[in-house]
Amino acid sequence: MIIEIPNSNSIEINTIILDLNGTLSINGIISAETKSLIKQLKKFNYKIVLISGDIRGNAQNIATELEIDLLLGKTSEEKAVQMQNFDKNTTASIGNARIDIGTFKNSKLSIATLQAEGIHTQILKYVDIIVPSIENALQLFLNTKSLSGTLRK
Ligand SMILES: [Mg+2]
Repeated sequence: MIIEIPNSNSIEINTIILDLNGTLSINGIISAETKSLIKQLKKFNYKIVLISGDIRGNAQNIATELEIDLLLGKTSEEKAVQMQNFDKNTTASIGNARIDIGTFKNSKLSIATLQAEGIHTQILKYVDIIVPSIENALQLFLNTKSLSGTLRK
């Protein structure tokens, strides 16, 4: 999906990397709206990938249920290594924690979700946008006019 950014270069995002705990799921729960948004994004041909430290041991079950890919990354460095599987120029990432810095650094566009599990303040310098929820973050890729509005100069 091409995202036009007024007064700046347009960007193309084809892959969305998600963190699991504290981002896709809150206290272990994924909302019905989030599941619906993931389905819609796949219909728009976005590739959706979970890169997770899997602290709850349920990442594979979630990836299977949502029909998305899972890569394990138990540290920020391991997440950075997993990001080498993707083209940085067309990849966006969504996360909340210090472990996600390795993901954010290797993304064209980085989004933090400030939800119930919190965000780590060290991630602030690595993200482009902060939104209140994972639903809001995913909606930005379906309603790209809103995304353009936030990114415009
Ligand atoms: Mg997290």
